Amino acid sequence: MSLAAIDYVSALAVHPGIPHSVHLTSIPLPAPGPHDAVVKVRQVGICGTDREIIEGKFGTPPPGQHELVLGHEVFGVVESVGDEVATLAPGDFVSATVRRPDNCAYCQAGQPDMCQALGYVERGIIGHHGFMAERFVDDVDYLVPVPAALAPTAVLLEPLSVVEKAVRQANLIQQRMAAWRPKTAVVLGAGPIGILGTFLLRSRGLEVYTLARTPPPTPNAGLVTACGAHYVSTSETPFRELAGSLPNIDIILEATGHGPLAFDAMDLLGNNGVLVWLSIIGGDDLSPLPYSSILRGHVLGNKVTVGSVNSAYEDFTLGVADLGKFDLLWPKLTETMITHRLNLDEASEIGIGHVIPGSVKTVIDFA
Ligand code: BGC
Repeated sequence: MSLAAIDYVSALAVHPGIPHSVHLTSIPLPAPGPHDAVVKVRQVGICGTDREIIEGKFGTPPPGQHELVLGHEVFGVVESVGDEVATLAPGDFVSATVRRPDNCAYCQAGQPDMCQALGYVERGIIGHHGFMAERFVDDVDYLVPVPAALAPTAVLLEPLSVVEKAVRQANLIQQRMAAWRPKTAVVLGAGPIGILGTFLLRSRGLEVYTLARTPPPTPNAGLVTACGAHYVSTSETPFRELAGSLPNIDIILEATGHGPLAFDAMDLLGNNGVLVWLSIIGGDDLSPLPYSSILRGHVLGNKVTVGSVNSAYEDFTLGVADLGKFDLLWPKLTETMITHRLNLDEASEIGIGHVIPGSVKTVIDFA
């Protein structure tokens, strides 16, 4: 009897907790099970969470290991499938969800993005290797089919899914009202999440004001205005001043990572409005807040503020439909979000821990 040879793949990893420990490594590819697929990675996006992991502030390796393979925004092609797989075949394009469930009631009900016990693992972030590797193995239940026509933008599906969940949550919550017809939206932040949120809300017909500190022109401001939204630099027009000149702000998506602005948003949200916080903010700041005004406004105006993290499988499916819609509305615009492409060697050399000046989204190309 001969033992099957173990397949090793090149990958980009860190030693969690040790700042700037990005390095190329080689890891064994797990043996695929009957319900698994082996996926050849095409592209992996880099985001703020990756940078926090690289700075040593976040992230845990798989149990018993010292390194964590990065990457949770993936686009790849199925290379092989197990005997029990009927939904995917070699050659199919896929993305993958990030979070894997624990035993809590919410995870067990099929909503790991709503995990209550916080014992989940997240690929490339917490307790499970990520996708910045030549290949990965996963259960097909976590793989999302992507039409070939979306290949140029499919690496953006995971960040888009985070925004899809936020807007889906907002709409679910607003079912409390018989006449929820949002017209005016504010998006705080013009990074990839803010831009994708802007595209999504514009594609649903809202008037969108996207706020970021830097005055235009920037590539980010260009993307915002190209889809018909308004880019507002908060160094020129503070949010409070802008809010005074807008109609009722029906929905706010907050994606800045800046605590004071997140609370200003609570204060400036319109009546019957919904504010979705998306930033995961570190530290333990105790700054005073305009709490009387926030509380009064929330009660008298029936306002809702909600946090939203991660995304469900259905948010990826919604994202697939919306990426197609964005292309119809604004041909090739979404693709221009991908400003920088690195190969695996460049990624490890340059160290992907810093935002490349002028970059909106940097991806690692494995092709
Ligand atoms: C990812 C989410 C994840 C969150 C917290 C984000 O960057 O997009 O999927 O849940 O980080 O770890």
